[in-house]
Formats: sequence, C-alpha cells, structure tokens
Amino acid sequence: MTAQIIDGVALSKHIRAEVGRRAAALAARGTTPGLAVILVGDDPASAVYVRNKVKACQEHGLHSVLEKYDATLPEADLLARIAALNADPAIHGILVQMPVPRHVDPHKVIAAIATSKDVDGFSVHSAGALMTGLSGLRPATPYGCMKMIESTGIDLKGKHAVVIGRSNTVGKPMALLLLQANATVTVCHSGTPDLGQFTRQADVVVAAVGRRNTVTAGMVKPGAIVIDVGMNRNDEGKLCGDVDFAGVREVAGWITPVPGGVGPMTITMLLVNTLQAAEAAL
Ligand code: NAP
Repeated sequence: MTAQIIDGVALSKHIRAEVGRRAAALAARGTTPGLAVILVGDDPASAVYVRNKVKACQEHGLHSVLEKYDATLPEADLLARIAALNADPAIHGILVQMPVPRHVDPHKVIAAIATSKDVDGFSVHSAGALMTGLSGLRPATPYGCMKMIESTGIDLKGKHAVVIGRSNTVGKPMALLLLQANATVTVCHSGTPDLGQFTRQADVVVAAVGRRNTVTAGMVKPGAIVIDVGMNRNDEGKLCGDVDFAGVREVAGWITPVPGGVGPMTITMLLVNTLQAAEAAL
C-alpha cells in the first residue's frame, strides 16, 4: 500500500482563501484583522518564522505589525509593549516568537497577553479552555494537524490515536483535541519504553519529537494516518520530519510530508485564529 499524501500546501491554500473572504467581509464592516508579532533577539530560525507569518497576513487581507527588539530588551519593557498592544483596537492577535532570551520569563510573557488576543493559544487560560471543552483559541500546530486529519474524511470516534511528545505547545494540546474528537488517546514521551509497541496499535500517529526517524515503517499499522510535526535536518542539511517518510508511506494509509505538511498549516491556523479574534471583538 502506498499512502495518500495529506498536502499541507493545498489544504492551506483552500483554508487561506476562506480566510481572505472572511477578512474582506470584516473590512467591509470597518475592521481589518490585525496581528502583532514580536521578535526579541536575532535567532535566524525565529527570524524566518516571523517573516513567513507576517507575509501570510499581508497576502490574505490581514494587517500585521512586526516588532523586532534587541536580545538585551529588558523583560519589563517587553511586558509594557504587550500591555500597549493589548489596549490597541487595531490589533486582534499578539504573538511573541519563542524562544525568548534567557533573562526573560516566557511564562510571564505569555500571561501578559490578553486572553482574547492569545492567537498562539499558549496561555494558561487558553489551555484551560481547551482542557475543559470551552471555546477559545487553539494552539495553531495541533489545530492544523486536526484539520489535516479531518481532510481524510475519517471519523476519529472509536479510533486509537498515539501522540509522541508531550510539550505544552504541541503534544499535550494535540492529545486533548484528539480526545475531544472522540479518539482513544495514548501519549508517549522520552520515558516510554518500546514506542513501537504503542504506535503499532494506532489508527492515528502524531509525531512531535524533534528527532528524525523516530517513526519507521515497522512501527506503523497498515492504513494508519501518520502526521509528522517534527522539523529536523538530515545528513545533507535538508528539512525532514520525525517520520521515515519513504519507508512509512509504503505502510500508512495517509501521511503528511515534511516540508509541505504541518508547517504551512501552522501558519494558516494562526491566520484563522487572528480572524476569529477579530470577529469576536466586533
Ligand atoms: P519539545 O518541547 O522538545 O518536545 C519534544 C517531545 O518529544 C517531549 O515531550 C519529549 O519527551 C519527546 N521525546 C523526545 N525524545 C523522545 C523519544 N526518543 N521517544 C519519545 N518521545 C520523545 O518539542 P516541540 O516544541 O513539541 O516540537 C516537537 C517537534 O515539532 C520539533 O521538531 C519542532 O521543531 C517541531 N514543530 C514543528 C512545528 C511546525 O509548524 N511544523 C511547530 C511546532 C513544533 P519528554 O517530555 O519526556 O522530554
């Protein structure tokens, strides 16, 4: 069996077109959805991420502001900047690109963002809303993974999903979203002995580890949906995921590529969240 590819670029295009339409409808009512992106320091990967986020906003009728600060920016100044953006009616979403420099407490930064503008969905309030089934802004990466799973048309009710990774930004919210969709969920992590014992039982595998070849063909149940969140470099320096794509695609039913899978969907769901925040502010 050769898996069907879940194309994150094509799915993004479809969802972004809808974002553009909804943004135009809002603009007609006098509101342009606005995203503020804050970058502190000069981490090259972070600089690329923020540039892509701002560009995506501009291409789909959203207003975006990129604020870049030196790595020495005092924590208090950053918090003051966030407070000003919280009060700015032209800004509906605020994102501080992580990681922040060591002298800045990321928990304080996330807590400073108004819940209604927390488009990354990382705050304790947003996480609590997800956990308790209340509406709210969902973290973009797992939200995008759910859209990719939905695009297969497979109902998760009665299915077993295995999430590898338990970070607050990907693994844990992913597990909660799958649970909400009525899957039976297992969460694996670095302390899990014999990962394959779990993944071989899974109808859905979501790999969010940050280590290539974490999931290989012999670890996957035939026909499973395999979602690869990982972003790593192979020996040739090329971007790759956590899944051995060439091997696993011969076993799985559905698979996401890297690049062209979860990455573009993450940015797309950030746009959706910003739009949702702007609609809610009307
Ligand atoms: P993270 O905070 O480092 O978490 C990694 C998780 O993987 C941890 O829970 C860790 O377990 C677990 N883990 C590590 N080694 C393992 C092993 N051998 N077996 C099973 N589990 C293992 O990373 P993250 O922020 O969640 O991101 C994960 C990956 O996704 C990274 O490659 C990141 O770059 C990528 N990512 C991509 C996007 C995108 O848009 N495409 C967005 C976000 C993240 P412990 O908790 O026990 O340490």
